[in-house]
Amino acid sequence: MSDKIPLLNVLHARAGTPIAIKMAPKKPPRKSSKFSNEHNFFSADAYRGKIYTKKTRGYFQRLRKNISFLLLGLFFAVPWLQINSAPAVLFDLRAQKFHVFGMTFWPQDAVFLVSMLVLASFLLVAATIVIGRAWCGFTCPQTVWTFLFIWVEDKCEGDRNQRIKLDKQSWNWQKVGRKASKHILWLLISIVTAYTFVGYFYQIKPLILETANAQLHYLAVFWLMFFVLGTYLNAGWLREKVCLHMCPYARFQAVMYTKKTLVVSYDRERGEQRGKRKVNADLSAKGLGDCVDCSVCVQVCPVDIDIRDGMQYACIDCGLCADACDTVMDKMGYQKGLIKFSNESGDNSKALFNTPKVIFLTVISLLCCLMFAYSVFSRDLLSIDVIRDRSGILYRVTELGVENSYTVKVNNKGAQVSKFKLEIVADSAFEIIGPQLLQVPRGEVDTLTLRVRIKEQDIQRYKSPIKFIVKPVANGVEIKNTVMASQLSSFIAPR
Ligand code: SF4
Ligand code: SF4
Repeated sequence: MSDKIPLLNVLHARAGTPIAIKMAPKKPPRKSSKFSNEHNFFSADAYRGKIYTKKTRGYFQRLRKNISFLLLGLFFAVPWLQINSAPAVLFDLRAQKFHVFGMTFWPQDAVFLVSMLVLASFLLVAATIVIGRAWCGFTCPQTVWTFLFIWVEDKCEGDRNQRIKLDKQSWNWQKVGRKASKHILWLLISIVTAYTFVGYFYQIKPLILETANAQLHYLAVFWLMFFVLGTYLNAGWLREKVCLHMCPYARFQAVMYTKKTLVVSYDRERGEQRGKRKVNADLSAKGLGDCVDCSVCVQVCPVDIDIRDGMQYACIDCGLCADACDTVMDKMGYQKGLIKFSNESGDNSKALFNTPKVIFLTVISLLCCLMFAYSVFSRDLLSIDVIRDRSGILYRVTELGVENSYTVKVNNKGAQVSKFKLEIVADSAFEIIGPQLLQVPRGEVDTLTLRVRIKEQDIQRYKSPIKFIVKPVANGVEIKNTVMASQLSSFIAPR
């Protein structure tokens, strides 16, 4: 049977034309009160009713589970990681410093953040051209947390049919217990999520200690409550409505699709005429296709659409309907793949990297990755900023010579050593009056106010260039011939 997707053929006028995506068919609002009292407060027209997702097993479900575990594990573990007794990742907004795995970034390093965002958008566009909305279906935090919350719901209230039954039945202690346990677990997950998220901006251990001692700053309290509520509402109540009505990505993905983009699709030629039948029934007489019209693909769909109606903007390409249909095909003794990731041509083997757009975006993304890595790893780990004191007089004449004042800032962005010596390189005998040894731990800044002096007989010109250099010091001894940072300045003498 052909793998072609007639709907996409109709939508594609010519190669490279973005595919138009069909809007989800309008469903009459469900009588939610018939199913549940929980969602009555969302009874706006746009509200599509509560979705009772059926559990399914299969390749895509396993893939999503593994990806979700990995992402959740990373998200919850990273704020606890320490490198040299300092947090591995901390976006310290108050101190305006971002610590990322031993490196410290300052507001002046914002270019790295911008490059990272540009790179991420290139990668997202490239991924969308190749595998549609796989980001939405497998890695988006909204999807990951929603699946976690659905898993909790399933454990507390039972499978799809049990949940429908529970919502229909009148309140009793059993219903109260099941509902309460679900909401308590949802709230616990939301609290842990909020603490972890805020822990990326405010060290997590002090955050917990301050909570225990009731000493939390009011801003920390606000953000914790904000994220508890946000997680609980988004993953527990709003779920697919965030994707349908709030996420802008769903709206503009159509312009990125090409004829070779892999999307979850139903093989209409193979599946139609759909109809119920017994296992091993002779289909030829009835003219039936392979779809047994069991609607399992709809029951497992987290956004409550029927993929057999064609591609729809609501579809997040999670592949659950493909898993569910494969199970049905297996039971019926038919070939799997009636619903699968497929492109318009059906030639999936050449689909992935064989379009100019994808090749271009892949090359650009790789170049950006290389440039980003190079600029991050080749940046100076120590910087020095010298400001000549211009507030008062240009120079001071003393018995010992002529003096200028300077403010020197040494910023340790990630150097392993923390002790340094400040020196001057110049063509005359300048000397530093004031502290020359500095202690600047990683991620810190030290500011010195000092004077530079020259004897009157050594002065060669009115304005002399002088260079401030910073050398590392190990075990109290300056490491010769190693300059970690330098900055040019000038020395003014009487004319
Ligand atoms: S799961 Fe497969 S067989 Fe069942 S209705 Fe959906 S497409 Fe048809
Ligand atoms: S139609 Fe299939 S792939 Fe799309 S969201 Fe529903 S279950 Fe996921």
